[in-house]
Amino acid sequence: MKITSDFHLHTSFSEDSDTPMETMVRSAAALGLKTICFTEHLDLDFPREYGTFTVDLDAFQEELLRLRGLYKKEIEILFGVELGMQPRLAGRYQEITKRYPFDFVIASQHLLDGADPYSPAYWEGKNEQDCYRAYFTQLLSNLKTMRSYDTLGHLDYVVRYGPGKNKHYSYEAYASCIDPILEHLIVQGKCLEVNTAGLKYGLGHPNPEESVLRRYRELGGRLITIGSDAHRPEHIAYDFRQAEELLRELGFESYTIFRQRKPHQVPLLP
Ligand SMILES: [Zn+2]
Ligand SMILES: [Zn+2]
Repeated sequence: MKITSDFHLHTSFSEDSDTPMETMVRSAAALGLKTICFTEHLDLDFPREYGTFTVDLDAFQEELLRLRGLYKKEIEILFGVELGMQPRLAGRYQEITKRYPFDFVIASQHLLDGADPYSPAYWEGKNEQDCYRAYFTQLLSNLKTMRSYDTLGHLDYVVRYGPGKNKHYSYEAYASCIDPILEHLIVQGKCLEVNTAGLKYGLGHPNPEESVLRRYRELGGRLITIGSDAHRPEHIAYDFRQAEELLRELGFESYTIFRQRKPHQVPLLP
């Protein structure tokens, strides 16, 4: 494996994972990864019926620092967070990112019209295309309010959950909504995440799909981060080999990792 960093990982500090952080650390080290970044969910004001996606940041940081020391000879462990965007949260998120010494911050859109598209009930009586379009529109408007983030997480996350999943989805059909998101990232100097969980979910593609990554490059985008979004040890660095081939085919020469919010380029070696 040539990609040696996984920059999107969850543990039992996130609402939707039961895996102790130490188990994730040991598995990542056994896979030969050099650097991992834990990015627990922080979705402030998440609608209560779907759970509370908040995290005890002090406890998370304390455990991370303990393991960082304990495993420092085997693997580098970085402190990250995945912020769930919603209108009017940007100020609170900015305060939090100032208060904690994060290495890396992912901005993600998990909600659509204030509801969770993960829930099948959300889709009842709805037109999939309209929902996907609304998702991209809401994502861009939320992203424009965010000040403090390093990468945009799983840009087309919503296509994991629609009734037809990604069967009728293509970049071309949504170009008018997706291009402005890519352009915004490029102008702001932010990264685009390649999230391999789409491969795990059986979509046959990462999020975002290849055609979106190709378009990002065409528009001048060069900065990508790579993460498996693993919530369990067996999904760490999931299909990174395929991601690596794909990125090279598309012409990307490096990927970005962050320490203390500062980017470093790691070459994608042939
Ligand atoms: Zn996410
Ligand atoms: Zn995640």
